[in-house]
Amino acid sequence: MELPFLTIKQASNLIKQKELSPLELTKSILERIQEKDERLNTYITVLSEKALESAKKAEEEISSGNYLGPLHGIPLGLKDIFVTKDITTTCGSKMLENFIPPYNATVTQKLLDSGAVILGKNNMDEFAMGSSTETSYFGPTANPWDLKRVPGGSSGGSASATAASLCLGSVGTDTGGSIRQPAALCGVVGMKPTYGRVSRFGMIAFASSLDQAGPLTNTVEDTAIILSAISGADPKDSTCLDIPVPDYTQSLKSDLKGLKIGIPKEYFVEGMDKDVEDASKKAISEMENLGAEIVEISLPHTQYAVLTYYIIAPSEASSNLARYDGVKYGFRAEDTQTLREMYFKTRAQGFGDEVKRRIMLGTYALSSGYYDAYYLKAQKVRTLIKNDFDEAFKNVDAIVAPTTPEVAFKIGEKTQDPIKMYLSDVLTIPCNIAGLPGISIPCGYSSNGLPIGIQVLAKPFDEETVIHVAHAYEQNTNWGEKRPEV
Ligand code: GLN
Repeated sequence: MELPFLTIKQASNLIKQKELSPLELTKSILERIQEKDERLNTYITVLSEKALESAKKAEEEISSGNYLGPLHGIPLGLKDIFVTKDITTTCGSKMLENFIPPYNATVTQKLLDSGAVILGKNNMDEFAMGSSTETSYFGPTANPWDLKRVPGGSSGGSASATAASLCLGSVGTDTGGSIRQPAALCGVVGMKPTYGRVSRFGMIAFASSLDQAGPLTNTVEDTAIILSAISGADPKDSTCLDIPVPDYTQSLKSDLKGLKIGIPKEYFVEGMDKDVEDASKKAISEMENLGAEIVEISLPHTQYAVLTYYIIAPSEASSNLARYDGVKYGFRAEDTQTLREMYFKTRAQGFGDEVKRRIMLGTYALSSGYYDAYYLKAQKVRTLIKNDFDEAFKNVDAIVAPTTPEVAFKIGEKTQDPIKMYLSDVLTIPCNIAGLPGISIPCGYSSNGLPIGIQVLAKPFDEETVIHVAHAYEQNTNWGEKRPEV
């Protein structure tokens, strides 16, 4: 098999046995990026030299008997939201176009400590606000299954690069669906861990009560490998809990006997693609064949999740993004006379339209006189949504539902209609609101050959059940095996 098409697990086995050189593997992927990425635009920055250097270092370490584990020598992408020491980190924005951080995010550091080779920084929606990667200041990313279509977002660069074999996997972030939705649209696996499982230190903040990092890979096993490496308590992020990190590869079981899976009736929404509905229903009956007991459940407040999210996330964003004022770092407008004018022009010129829209929405929702009606109300509804899940998990081990209401849409199709764009995440947002772990895995193709994803959710910190269900289904169906021709 050609090297870029290996899974992490396959490459890792060969590397460990010294049958594959990390340097050769890294070279072959860098060549593929060179050849293909002009059309796909999955990377904002490619770190050719640095990647070759760390691959060489990995090779030397391994040959001198110092093998660090399954990510040693594995070339990965990294969403450009994670700060990387001495390496430009843009967050998809003009505001940070020339920002070179002086330190590493915990996720970055953990990947480096595991011996992974970072190939480059993946494209994304500006400040992770979007569902299509079209709001990136660095141009849209294409979906490798159809270059005229979006890869989803905001981790669209990570998903497209993983599907197109321009990395063996990537780490993205999911605030309202930004790992699972692009994973579904690109036909790869994408997992959002429980809020508090992975450190947010050095992950550029969008909505701090929702943001969470997680892997995008070609198999569930590869996701388990990356998740084991990036999880765990961090003194630099007090919301990251001190709960032991299991070896998630131990959860890769092949059947679903003894598990009870709930199917929320509210997730088969009106206007859903028929192909998506059919593929999801087929996947559910496949899970039944694998031994799961399937029951219908209700999550009655589901319909309020998107509305709640679009109060809470912009409110937090308006506060988080206040720091981009041209004073300490990032873009600063030129030719300004006063401090006030410098602030105004910097923010007017440095942010794109979607980011400005969110800042205005959030500032409004938090302003005196509206705070109670919007922000406080949204927080209360958030509790109701969380309670729905708590109730459901009294009776079921996992929840399974379609990841998105439709397959990849055309580039430009929704850019003029923010509400339509926001509805892309109608099925992924509730999981973030409740802080749960969730994964999206491929479950079929539409009649025009585009990938479809199904998601598995479980109780907080029960990533093991998520991985168990996803892996058993994947092993018995193999929908993710085909890779797009690019
Ligand atoms: N699409 C959603 C938004 O634009 C989710 C983004 C995300 O998860 N980062 O807010």
